[in-house]
Amino acid sequence: MPVDWTKYPDDWEAIANKLKDEADWQCEQCGAGHMEDGTMGTCLTVHHVKQDPENPDPDLQVLCARCHLKEHRRLKREEREKNQLKLFPGN
Ligand SMILES: [Zn+2]
Ligand SMILES: [Zn+2]
Repeated sequence: MPVDWTKYPDDWEAIANKLKDEADWQCEQCGAGHMEDGTMGTCLTVHHVKQDPENPDPDLQVLCARCHLKEHRRLKREEREKNQLKLFPGN
């Protein structure tokens, strides 16, 4: 997924690392652990629950790459469904 890094704070990496520390380097959704060598496992990422990287005090979640992708698919689907409802306001 394309990430617009210009919206992220300069110290984003430090923030993300601190969150992963607090989450014990585990995915908050499936519990997968972070593998230092990155060969077989899990690259942990930090997800903006409300999709607002420009927010200085956002809701954040530590997710493995797989759950992160799933979460974004879900958000996209929800978005689409919302837009469809707008097209049919009678529903
Ligand atoms: Zn996960
Ligand atoms: Zn995300």
